[in-house]
Order: sequence, then structure tokens, then C-alpha cells
Amino acid sequence: MTPLDDADVSTVLVVTAHPDDVDFGAAGTVAMLTDKGIRVVYCIVTDGDAGGFDRELDNGGMAQLRRAEQTEAAKRVGVTDLRFLGYQDGTVEPTLGLRRDISRVIRQVRPDRVITSSPERNYVRIQPSHPDHRAVGGATLDAVYPDARNPYAFPELLADEGLEAWAVREVWLTGGQTNNHWVDITATVDRKVSALKAHVSQIAHIADGIEQFVRGFLAANAKAAGLPEGSYAEGFQVVQTA
Ligand SMILES: [Zn+2]
Repeated sequence: MTPLDDADVSTVLVVTAHPDDVDFGAAGTVAMLTDKGIRVVYCIVTDGDAGGFDRELDNGGMAQLRRAEQTEAAKRVGVTDLRFLGYQDGTVEPTLGLRRDISRVIRQVRPDRVITSSPERNYVRIQPSHPDHRAVGGATLDAVYPDARNPYAFPELLADEGLEAWAVREVWLTGGQTNNHWVDITATVDRKVSALKAHVSQIAHIADGIEQFVRGFLAANAKAAGLPEGSYAEGFQVVQTA
């Protein structure tokens, strides 16, 4: 699968369930894109309000903290435009309402490429297949096709908000079992690790191990991609949507 050349891409929208998902799955790639002058926007469906360890905060306080952490993490890879949808962590379903909300953001942002979670369960590793990730991935693919491009789908978006239909050209899925594209992120891996470390409420209890763990799986990706020893890579399943 050959994805669009980045030279033909002006805007990329990343849609994830939780603060930190993009940083585990795609922040090295995001940094590569922003370095090329490509506009990247994050849409984060929940505030991750059910996350954290040894908590003293209630869910409202956690939501506020996690938005701040994601905003800082985004800044470290060149992203300053974040849209938080405010859904409740742990309860996301691929409803018509979620499809409409993601379609709204797609029509506002008008991306060439969308990056989101795989809606399929990964039977090799269970963590990428959190139910919220699968729900967001499914709703995002449905928003890409057919909702956002069909002016007669969710007609209120056009009638009430003036949002014209928009056709996304391709989708990249993270966390699946069937990657068909690898991005060499050796040049940006340090910034990816730095972005991950901005999620202090999530990783403080594993701070020592997180960098080793992340570099380990990125190095394994690079090996699968046939890159030289010492390289790091992020993997995606590219889906044509034209
Ligand atoms: Zn997540």
C-alpha cells in the first residue's frame, strides 16, 4: 500500500479516544509531519477522566489535568490546535452522535489524511484494543465514509453551521494487527518520548520503564520494516478512501 506523498498533504487530523493515545501510536510521525510544515490537528474524544493511578483528583479534576497534559505533549511535536469532544472515558460507543461530532470536526479541519485507532481487536497484544479505541476508530471511519463527504448526511451541519461536505483522501489506523506502512521516526523519537512523558498523571508510576518499553517496540517495528539497526519506526494500516 502506497500512501499519499507528504508533499501532496497539507492537513492531517488525528482522532483518538484518550489523551496520550496519539503519543503512544503516532507522535513520532506527527513530528515528522509538522517539521515539513504540514498542519496537524488533534481531536480527542474523551478527557481520559477514568485514568491515572494513586489518584487524589475526582474525575472532573482528572479531565482538566489530562487536557493540560495533552496540550503540552502536542506542543512538543509541533501541534497547537486541539479539539476536545468531552465524552466520558470508558463508555464510548460508535453512535450516530459520535459520527456527527467527528464529521463536524472533519468538515471544519478539512484534512487530506486522518489518523485514528483501528476498530478491530488486536489478538497479539490486548492494550491497543481498548473498547474506546475501537469505538472511536469505527466512528471515525464511518465519519470519513460516508458521513463527512455526503452533504445529505447530518444535514444540520450544513444548514445550521455552514459546514460543507469534505472528502478525506486516506486513513491511517494505529494499534491494529495488519500494518502495511512504516514511518522511520529515528529523527523524532526523542520528541515522541518527551511528548509521552508530558502525561505525568499516567506514567509517573512507570516513569523509569516507559522510555525503555517504548523504544523497544519502536525498534521492533523498525526491524519489521527492514530499517537499519538503531532505527525506530511507527506502524500503520493505510486505508484508501477515494
Ligand atoms: Zn487510550
